[in-house]
Amino acid sequence: MTFRTRFAPSPTGPLHLGHAYSALLAYDMAMAAGGDFLLRIEDIDRSRARPEWEEQIYDDLRWLGIWWPDPAMRQSERTAAYQSALDELWQREIVYICTCSRRDIELAASAPQEGVEPTFGPDGLIYPGTCRDKGHGPIDPELERPKDVVLRLDMDRAIQCIAHHHPTNFTEDGTGPDGKHGPIEIRQDTLINSIGDVVLARRDMGTSYHLSVVLDDAAQGITHVVRGQDLFEATKIHVVLQILLGLPTPIYHHHKLIRDENGKRLAKRDDARAIAKFRQDGATPEDIRRMVGL
Ligand code: GLU
Repeated sequence: MTFRTRFAPSPTGPLHLGHAYSALLAYDMAMAAGGDFLLRIEDIDRSRARPEWEEQIYDDLRWLGIWWPDPAMRQSERTAAYQSALDELWQREIVYICTCSRRDIELAASAPQEGVEPTFGPDGLIYPGTCRDKGHGPIDPELERPKDVVLRLDMDRAIQCIAHHHPTNFTEDGTGPDGKHGPIEIRQDTLINSIGDVVLARRDMGTSYHLSVVLDDAAQGITHVVRGQDLFEATKIHVVLQILLGLPTPIYHHHKLIRDENGKRLAKRDDARAIAKFRQDGATPEDIRRMVGL
């Protein structure tokens, strides 16, 4: 099996040292394995993605000495693939329409058991299930799936669909939280409480990070996903979607996060640590490698 990995930034701000680490690590791993390194521009959030940030991603990566086959995949050109997966899940009645606002979710999540703290999952507050019994498709199979609505995964139905798939797991080739490494078992009976009914299609995007990343990794033939530890828990959602959609599960390599001097994870708005800033100040790509410990 050829080793094939990718770097998948969102063009919503400047790449910082954390991105440099992720891209360089993935690139080095691909080169060491005699494999491929691909680039994917994750620009589904049209309200935040900007062409100038995309241009800067290309500039920064080239400057770092990274090469990828052109053109890079762009999620904004993959709408048809996302829509067809959603159509399938809709037909199979595994997604449902949700009309809750953020406020509705906060209220419902804290209401049933006074004093019990609402639980958080990889996507924030775990959805309390308010709309679950209102809008599963298809009431009429001839009827088209409604667009411009929020669609959530019905985790309970998803589990029924993947029940035969034992063990449900993925291979961690890097390090997850608490040093987790090797085969990571996803206990199906914990998915409802730890993850719940996540959003698969946002109203404004017609898709979501989780759905797109799974479809795109499969479409690009990715064998190894190299990305930050912050996405370790989300990998469980990705594996569930892969099984539901009949897609292969790549090997995952979650890596350390680059933090500032106060131990805080770098953010896009952290312009001070933008690669472009270091470039302007005369740093070399070797300096960047040293700064991130490569
Ligand atoms: N666009 C995502 C990010 O920048 C990529 C996550 C992934 O590699 O799966 O965090």
